[in-house]
Amino acid sequence: MQALVEAAHAKYAPHATGDVATYIPELSKANPDHFGICTVTSDGRVFEMGDCDVPFTIQSISKPFTFGMAIDELGRDAVLAHVGVEPSGDAFNAIELQNGTNLPFNPMVNAGAITVSALLHKAHGPAALDALLERFSALAGRRLSIDQAVYESERRTGHRNRAIAHLLLNFGVVHEQAEAALDLYFQQCSILVTCRDLAMMAATLSNMGLHPVTGEMVLSVNSIRDVLSVMFTCGMYDYSGQWAFRVGVPAKSGVSGGVMAVVNRQMGIATYSPRLDRFGNSVRGVETCADLASQLGLHAFDCLNIGSGFLDTIL
Ligand code: GLU
Repeated sequence: MQALVEAAHAKYAPHATGDVATYIPELSKANPDHFGICTVTSDGRVFEMGDCDVPFTIQSISKPFTFGMAIDELGRDAVLAHVGVEPSGDAFNAIELQNGTNLPFNPMVNAGAITVSALLHKAHGPAALDALLERFSALAGRRLSIDQAVYESERRTGHRNRAIAHLLLNFGVVHEQAEAALDLYFQQCSILVTCRDLAMMAATLSNMGLHPVTGEMVLSVNSIRDVLSVMFTCGMYDYSGQWAFRVGVPAKSGVSGGVMAVVNRQMGIATYSPRLDRFGNSVRGVETCADLASQLGLHAFDCLNIGSGFLDTIL
């Protein structure tokens, strides 16, 4: 596995296509050459190469975790009364709701994620950020914090997300403190992680919510099912269908350049490389994950994938 990770790093490091996100001004400062690959098996073995210790903001990769946290705390029905589970076919930041229900399409687009943040804000009040940081830290297995500069940069310029929050307020999808909920959303997107943290978080999802190193049960088995389902159908922006076809595992990416993929009961994979393609996915991240999935037979429907026993036979 270490040799595979190193080979993938050597193969894709020269790929210099794609651009760093600039619509949140602070993100434009990212080093486009940074590139890390980390895999963590469901029993905690780590294989990594490159820039796996470089901190970056989690951005949209926070969305599956807040969705899982809301389901754990409020129950599936209460959450699904506020957000759907249907791919939107539109941009992640589209100012739109689902025709007929007036609910956000799913928790992976901004409208859905802001709704989930509002549910958590309503449940926890001013303690919401602490509760969220605590859960994310438990998922990573170490104490995480916020990048204040990125948070303030997004809060200052996030007019589109503010429009979405007010659309949600107009339709009564979020409670009246929509601005505070939006603030929580900006803060959750600004949580600093490394590529290794993301791989640990993915491994925790792959291990049914049990952190492979700390042994802490961080998310319930029921919420994991729901989280992985929406990641599978909606996690990779407008490339989600192609990703499911080509790579075949639940995944989530974010505009700062992270990609997190979950191989059910087997392992978590994370990559970090800030150059994005036209969909907003990390160019090197997509190619690395597709390559590893193909070599290891990780696609959920690959004939090589015979479940959790498979990796054990090669590791
Ligand atoms: N904070 C970013 C936004 O709301 C997250 C976008 C993303 O990573 O997809 O625009």
